[in-house]
Amino acid sequence: MAKQRVPPTPNNFHLWFKYSLGQSSDLKRTIDILISNKRKFDSATNHDLFKTYIGSQGTEAAVVHQVSQRLHGVMDSAKNFITTAIADNRTQMEAMGDVAGQTEAGFDPKILIENLVSELTKATERAVKLEAGFQEKSRELDVIRESLNKSEERARTDTLTGLPNRRALEEFFRGAQIAAMERDEPLSVLLIDIDHFKKFNDNFGHGVGDQVLRLVAKALRELVRGEDLPARYGGEELIAVLPRADLSTCHGIAERIRRSISECQFTRRSTGEVLPQITVSIGIGEFQFGESMADLIDRCDRALYLAKKTGRNKVVSESELKPKAAVAG
Ligand code: GH3
Ligand code: MG
Ligand code: MG
Repeated sequence: MAKQRVPPTPNNFHLWFKYSLGQSSDLKRTIDILISNKRKFDSATNHDLFKTYIGSQGTEAAVVHQVSQRLHGVMDSAKNFITTAIADNRTQMEAMGDVAGQTEAGFDPKILIENLVSELTKATERAVKLEAGFQEKSRELDVIRESLNKSEERARTDTLTGLPNRRALEEFFRGAQIAAMERDEPLSVLLIDIDHFKKFNDNFGHGVGDQVLRLVAKALRELVRGEDLPARYGGEELIAVLPRADLSTCHGIAERIRRSISECQFTRRSTGEVLPQITVSIGIGEFQFGESMADLIDRCDRALYLAKKTGRNKVVSESELKPKAAVAG
């Protein structure tokens, strides 16, 4: 970034970080072409690149930018308040000093006291005004903090189901795997997929499908333990990360979820029509210290596939999988 004289703003960092990871070949190609053509990364170019390659996250970045602007505003006024308070304090000290000087000159004590009271009254009035100003700014800060919290929450939540999204899942897993390794504790994952959901959508419409997905998400949320993280993995696949749970505990929880969903009676909200039974298949796996989340989920996925192949509406553990054939070298 320094070489190309790209200003170190959060958005530019985001974009160039993605570039350096090399995950987006389009982004890489575009930036490489710009560099080889000696194009200047001016603010318009940087803005366009961000809009194109970071896309929808730009909305969230815009909110953060807005909040940050407001925060700067409040900080500026707080700084002004403090400067005023210090200057006021100095003026008051000088005024008191003058009154004290009059004592030495042998002034009428009645006038001295009146002067002192008058200076103290002025000082109190200023202090009251300053305090009111501070309180107002502190309320503004509360509003800003609240809106930051909300936008962080939105960035971690899936809009359809209200469950934590993939980003929240990854964050949670990063913390959970470290805790598991540090404390030598198990950590398990269960991956849920709704059975024959395509057919269900075809028969009843996507809207009813969405309603069912929300209800399955609600059941998952209610059936995991407080310390677990249920999330929407993507499409009609949900997931839960279970700290301190070994395969057998995870199997118990998965089985409870499977049974409970299969026993639910779903009705179409608009008409009250009773819908056919909804079932899910679940694949479970236990974290092996040091492996990536992707590797663990891959085993859950293979267990899930086995559950689908062997009848659906069941829980299959990774322990039932055949060991992966070694790749010939
Ligand atoms: P299987 O039992 O093998 O899982 O069958 P399936 O039909 O569920 O599997 P498949 O992967 O073929 O289809 C998944 C379907 O899930 C396709 C898609 O219409 C539906 N789906 C994915 N996301 C959503 C969603 O957000 N809302 C709705 N209503 N349907 C979704
Ligand atoms: Mg699926
Ligand atoms: Mg499915």
